[in-house]
Amino acid sequence: MVLYEKAPAKINLSLDVLSKRDDGYHNVEMIMTSIDLSDRIELFELNQDRIEISLESRFVPSDERNLAYKAADAIKRKYGIRRGVHIKIEKSIPVSAGLGGGSTDAAAVLRGLNRLWSLHIPMDELANLGATLGTDVPFCVYGKTALASGRGEVINALPAPPPCWVILAKPDIGVSSRTIFQRIIVDELAHQQTQGVIQALRANDFELLCRSTGNNLEAITVQLYPEVQRIKDAMRQAGASGVLMSGSGPTVYGLVEQESKAKRIYNGMRGFCDEVYFVRLLG
Ligand code: ATP
Repeated sequence: MVLYEKAPAKINLSLDVLSKRDDGYHNVEMIMTSIDLSDRIELFELNQDRIEISLESRFVPSDERNLAYKAADAIKRKYGIRRGVHIKIEKSIPVSAGLGGGSTDAAAVLRGLNRLWSLHIPMDELANLGATLGTDVPFCVYGKTALASGRGEVINALPAPPPCWVILAKPDIGVSSRTIFQRIIVDELAHQQTQGVIQALRANDFELLCRSTGNNLEAITVQLYPEVQRIKDAMRQAGASGVLMSGSGPTVYGLVEQESKAKRIYNGMRGFCDEVYFVRLLG
């Protein structure tokens, strides 16, 4: 049997680091929303009890280090399943970009194996299992728009943002979330307007949303990679709103309501940055 799962990327509308925990992780509040830029995951049932991965990427390992492999291994172990799967990953989401590429692949494997093997595991249990794989995996299990809190494992659904276009611009660098999180000095952080974003989503207010987006990790990444600030400035100057770095970066996004304006900004940014995308929110 073969089964397909779509694995959409996410952007952060807010990312607030609240405190450092005894287990080394941070307590966070993050509002994320899925975007129409997706990897494609195919799951093929195998006769032997093993996990295989195939993908064509210079940047992502196709062995047990792959988050998709770890997801399959976690579900097999937790539920004592002695079946095998071949996972084919077609990557479209840029790697180490702050768009949750690995996390969404892992979440898609959890959802897909739940179907492939008719396990009937409830979504919240899948999300809890996902939390053992990475901070963004529980959100990616559900997708759409949600507030993730705790260390990312407490998910509360939120209304979709007002319809708009998203321009993504990624400089030619990869950023490791771990490096950025290690540099956080929590006491020096100003809290982001997570409540403002929630209010904007509830009121379906595009202007308020754009005024409220914020990310605690941005200043840290900008210090290491000043080109992120240059891209933000260019995106703003081109006329995008709510311009922000997603996750630990380096991808910067801008929100635009009108399609014609969004296309103009997209074309302008292509002259400025190698990798630029023009996508819709999946909300
Ligand atoms: P995060 O903010 O969660 O780190 P990201 O979008 O910035 O996410 P990813 O694209 O998930 O970054 O890649 C982070 C690291 O994870 C890379 O070093 C990559 O090699 C590794 N990785 C493992 N499995 C995958 C996968 N299936 N897809 C992408 N990266 C993966």
